[in-house]
Amino acid sequence: MNNNELWQSVLAQMQLYISKANFATWFQNTEVISRENEKIVISVPNAFSKEWLSNKYYKLIFKTIYDIDSTIKELAFVINPKSLKNLIINNATDSEKTNIDQLKFDEFKVNKDTNLNPRYIFENFVVGSFNELAHAAGLAVSENPGSAYNPLFIYGGVGLGKTHLTQAIGNKINTDHKKKKVKYISSEKFVSSIVNAIRSKSMESFKESLAPIDVLIVDDIQFFAGKNKSQEEFFHIFNSLYEKNKQIILSSDRPPNAIPELEERLKSRFEGGMIVDISLPDYETRLVILKTKIQEKNLKLSDDILEYIASNIKKNIRELEGALNSLSIYYKANNNVPDLEVVKKLLKGFVFSPFSVTNYKKIIEVVSKFYNLEEKTIFSQTRRKEIVKPRQVAMFLLRKELKYSFPAIARKFGGKDHTTVIYAYKKILKEIEENNKLTDELNLIKQRVYSG
Ligand code: ADP
Ligand code: MG
Repeated sequence: MNNNELWQSVLAQMQLYISKANFATWFQNTEVISRENEKIVISVPNAFSKEWLSNKYYKLIFKTIYDIDSTIKELAFVINPKSLKNLIINNATDSEKTNIDQLKFDEFKVNKDTNLNPRYIFENFVVGSFNELAHAAGLAVSENPGSAYNPLFIYGGVGLGKTHLTQAIGNKINTDHKKKKVKYISSEKFVSSIVNAIRSKSMESFKESLAPIDVLIVDDIQFFAGKNKSQEEFFHIFNSLYEKNKQIILSSDRPPNAIPELEERLKSRFEGGMIVDISLPDYETRLVILKTKIQEKNLKLSDDILEYIASNIKKNIRELEGALNSLSIYYKANNNVPDLEVVKKLLKGFVFSPFSVTNYKKIIEVVSKFYNLEEKTIFSQTRRKEIVKPRQVAMFLLRKELKYSFPAIARKFGGKDHTTVIYAYKKILKEIEENNKLTDELNLIKQRVYSG
């Protein structure tokens, strides 16, 4: 049995033990590259796979291999030298360094036809439990655009990788399926194009320009909230592409059913496909993200510094990157790696005190924003359903998160009878027991309330 045959049978076995999503995430692009006596060397696409496979799957892989060939006593994982990351590690040769500069230069070159940024690719997208489902679904879509999951709807908070992932799908389709026409559009751009087309009476030609597209990516569609005319036109565009089995990929900061003022028919269209979320990376994953990024940036930082960043910057991946950028600037200016004390000073702006809790203002601000209301509206006396619910949610959170007394909450809401507040609290409590949608909404709101 040669190395390839051995690895293929291991992969076949692994598929029996672990979920499809996990398999796609961790075993894609792995192979056995050499065998030295009792040791098998497995190549993996990036540092994250290496860490994950050697920590979480070592035993399982080893047992599977051992069952096939009991002369093997040891496994080693190495990062595939052909993969992007290795181009960027420290000991690159001169010609490789030119490549790196080229890569950095390319980062800014957005493709004119597709609007995709070549920086956003799967190879530099770190996968962990916080995003593994979204990643697996994205990979499946890029392999079978139009037939795997349609539409694919990815949601999650700011800076957690929605744009990166949706563009990585687009870039992969663009590379692997050369004939498919991919187009990435932010919702903001989409809405303004629709508004312009209406104004200049050129809607038909705008629609015609979209007709040949095989893969349409629309980012941040919460931006459609309340924009009725744009929603209506988008509905028609969506349908005509969908009917032709064209792939549609959407992202938003919340699930479709939590987007206020989104037409029912659009919601049900979005819900007709696959909905996946990206949540917050945990400490371990933040550490892996940092390790991957410093390799890319050719920045050497000690473990205690990385651990400090991972334990103090929790908001999102964009902030982790921001922190590394600050350190990278320091490094370039001083030609010296900062020590932990300097790092603490440099990152003051990023780090929130671990004791920082939420407050009244923050809760009102987040709840109003979430439901697309002005803050003063939430305090108005109206009984309109779309305002009563956010008001009850705000009351509930003031009680639950800040332990405000019921009369204190009543005073904040214009001196209402405090039994109204008790009613609101109980109502929300009961509803989250019965209704997953509200639970999801509250989780998203809480995430934002506490994310600084
Ligand atoms: P969002 O669109 O959800 O606000 P972005 O996709 O813009 O977030 O991500 C913010 C930054 O974090 C980007 O620079 C992106 O490359 C990086 N990033 C996000 N997710 C990942 C990931 N899983 N692995 C590596 N980098 C990531
Ligand atoms: Mg984005």
